Amino acid sequence: MNRELLEEKLAELPLYIYDFVDPKELEFSERVRWICQHECPKYGTTWACPPGVGTVAECQARCKVYHNCLLISSIAEVADIADIDDTLATRPAHEALTEQVAALLKEQGEKPYILSTQACAICDRCAIVDNQPCRFPEKMHPCVESHGINVVPILEKLGLDFQFGSNMVTWISLLLY
Ligand code: SF4
Repeated sequence: MNRELLEEKLAELPLYIYDFVDPKELEFSERVRWICQHECPKYGTTWACPPGVGTVAECQARCKVYHNCLLISSIAEVADIADIDDTLATRPAHEALTEQVAALLKEQGEKPYILSTQACAICDRCAIVDNQPCRFPEKMHPCVESHGINVVPILEKLGLDFQFGSNMVTWISLLLY
């Protein structure tokens, strides 16, 4: 991995921040999973969400095989952050950025395991509803929270400040490689 070259290319992208994280420092929390289960209407609706992604321990084991992790974040301003449609409308741009960053890693021979945002929206009706396997496993990226990962300690450790005005949307992806 030529990190200098990677960083040159990352600097050309409209990322708010990127940073390299030691995967050993990722905090996997049953509490995050509890929030998915009890507070997210998408729980169980796609293979990108729990319980389809497996238990937190299984997710942790899947991530543990990687020695590097690239955290990327983008931000977007919306008129009213309480307007969920407005907020979600900013998501595709972040997903596209995540794919661009994944492509940079692939250019260098890596096969990143990508954790991105929200439930998968690739198919109108997720195959999980019909108890069928994911149709596009290579395109589908589970969300960071689905794996029970608490990103707050990482952001604090990196000294990253996400206290923006109330109408700023922050998106985060992790690319393990
Ligand atoms: S790609 Fe389709 S089948 Fe796979 S998780 Fe996404 S919505 Fe479900």
